[in-house]
Amino acid sequence: MDMTNDYAFDTRVVHLGMHAEEWQGATLPPIFQSSAHRHETAESLSRTFGGQQDAHIYMRLTNPTNRVLEEKLAALESGKGAVVVASGMAAISNACLALLKAGDEFVTGNSLFMSTYLLFARVFAKYGITARFVDPRNPEAVAAAINDRTRFVYIEIIGNPKMDVPDLAGLAELAHRHGLPLLVDNTMATPWLCRPIELGADIVIHSTTKYLSGHGNATGGVIIDSGAFDWAAHPDRFADFAPFVERKGPLAYRDRVWRELHINLGTTAAPFHSYLTLLGLDTLVLRMERHMANTLTVARFLASHPKVRWVNYPGLLGHPDHALAAREFGNKGFGGLLTFGLANQQECFTCIDNLRLIYHLANLGDCKSLIIHPYSSQYLSFAEETRRELAITPDLLRLSVGIEAADDIIADLDQALAKLPG
Ligand SMILES: *Cc1c(COP(=O)(O)O)cnc(C)c1O
Repeated sequence: MDMTNDYAFDTRVVHLGMHAEEWQGATLPPIFQSSAHRHETAESLSRTFGGQQDAHIYMRLTNPTNRVLEEKLAALESGKGAVVVASGMAAISNACLALLKAGDEFVTGNSLFMSTYLLFARVFAKYGITARFVDPRNPEAVAAAINDRTRFVYIEIIGNPKMDVPDLAGLAELAHRHGLPLLVDNTMATPWLCRPIELGADIVIHSTTKYLSGHGNATGGVIIDSGAFDWAAHPDRFADFAPFVERKGPLAYRDRVWRELHINLGTTAAPFHSYLTLLGLDTLVLRMERHMANTLTVARFLASHPKVRWVNYPGLLGHPDHALAAREFGNKGFGGLLTFGLANQQECFTCIDNLRLIYHLANLGDCKSLIIHPYSSQYLSFAEETRRELAITPDLLRLSVGIEAADDIIADLDQALAKLPG
């Protein structure tokens, strides 16, 4: 049987990319901790540089441990090729810059991870690139923001922390109608819940730091190319793709990310981190099932708690995107993150300060439950107007629900909420 097609996702996530026969029978790849690779002959190195031979040269270019993770994540996302990089932000930078030059624009959902927002709104702006922020759930707004200078449409699936879920298939169709690729940050859903390429997206990005590695011990990112977008068919926008199309055909985009950006920006992933990510991937399905079951249980508890003003989780029936998310995620669940509201910032601080089990830190997707008050931490330096656009309010707490016993997570929240006045 063919590991890429014939087995279920749950089996492939464990076995894909494992070449024990090449690793003296080892069940995970070695950590190839070598800055460069020796070649027996001058001819061999020359052929490798020339692309006629697939071998390793220097760690900033490729690394065998990173390569295993690239092949695995590309296959799990139904893509054709991938580039593993040092972090999720490195993935987003490479993925976007491979399509942009000064004077270009792109249309992006306004429900974005904090650093992604800063990269788009502040850093890219310095280089003459304009990001047009729109509500990703409003196709008319997306279409209205597209013009002759637009190079792609970008969205996050399950916005953090807005918890909104856009219509991927609809947005892919809309982008393609305008001759544009759709880029999706699938960090929050993971390929277990949603494989954007199967719904029409062209490029998928992950911060592997979160659920894919899953244990809060590795940083990484990946850019996955569907191989499906026809760059040559849109010379008006993508004439500069011609040499990459000539060299790599359907993997032109992957080649451009790797050759033009990743190598020259030096966004190299450490092979140890790729090893930890591969180790974490083995249990992705088990962890996601538990994360999601726990999150739904905790969301229902919070929704019924008198001190809690509101709960935002796509798994709750009242959530505006509940039906769409159920369909888009194959009825498997709704992710492991939720937000909830207390009366004000002071109540949020009191709640955090009284938690005993739940960690207070800036991360998500760990096995451990994690909480943060984004308004006073990650978004501290943001203008009030921007915070409003991103739905970062002083009363909001963000909870990444871990894989502990749900009763223990609830008991911890319950005793902390009991410390609130009134
Ligand atoms: C964390 C995160 C990122 C950034 O990833 P890093 O690995 O921290 O660089 C990007 N997008 C989303 C949705 C994230 O949650």
